[in-house]
Amino acid sequence: MRSRTVNRSGIVIRRRVTPAGDIIVTLLTPQGKLKAIARGGVRGPLASRLNLFHHVGIQIYQTPQSDLASVQQAVLEGALPKLAEPERYAFAHLMAELADALFQEGEFTEQAFELFAGALRGISHQPDPEWVALVMGFKLLGLAGFVAQTARCARCGADQPAHPDPLGGQMLCSNCASLPAYPPEALDFVRYAVRRSVRASIEAPVPTEQRAMLWRALERFVTVQVGNVQSWRQLVPQPQESVRV
Ligand SMILES: [Zn+2]
Repeated sequence: MRSRTVNRSGIVIRRRVTPAGDIIVTLLTPQGKLKAIARGGVRGPLASRLNLFHHVGIQIYQTPQSDLASVQQAVLEGALPKLAEPERYAFAHLMAELADALFQEGEFTEQAFELFAGALRGISHQPDPEWVALVMGFKLLGLAGFVAQTARCARCGADQPAHPDPLGGQMLCSNCASLPAYPPEALDFVRYAVRRSVRASIEAPVPTEQRAMLWRALERFVTVQVGNVQSWRQLVPQPQESVRV
């Protein structure tokens, strides 16, 4: 393999600064995920360009000796400054973490990139960023092949389960369930969100008071099936401690 220079365009989904002042970034691009290092980047002009959620065009240099490509140049192609607002930032961060955990170089990458870019735009611009994040979280999972079983009870296989599965984030029938059934709007969402178009889901938001159970299902499902995602704590309302009698 020869040394080579490659140009790519993508969104920064992860950024880490090493003690030596290098910036290690992970980008989601239409060609898949890409990890690269900007040596000494923290002290140069790259520092402000290689920021989380920035859409950048980068020139990278890959040598056979190093498994990490080196960033030669970076040009800012787009930014969504509203994502810095506290009520939007946590949702954008969760999307980036999910994308990082779900996608590799592979066949669905162009769709993944479009979906992820759409999620960030929606979280940035829409008046209800929480709803965008829930819809896009389920869609990203579905695209990556992680689809919760909703036609049958996760425990006994009975048809048409309608109760949350507090352990696996799937669905339970009334016999297996310990929690009350989902209200109709939340039930409709958990059953059909993956198959329905993003637009259709965005236009039919589940009432705010039903979202905590959707977040819990998403968190449980991702934790069991994918792992490796840490942004939940600030987003997912914790279930109330059971009261000992
Ligand atoms: Zn059951």
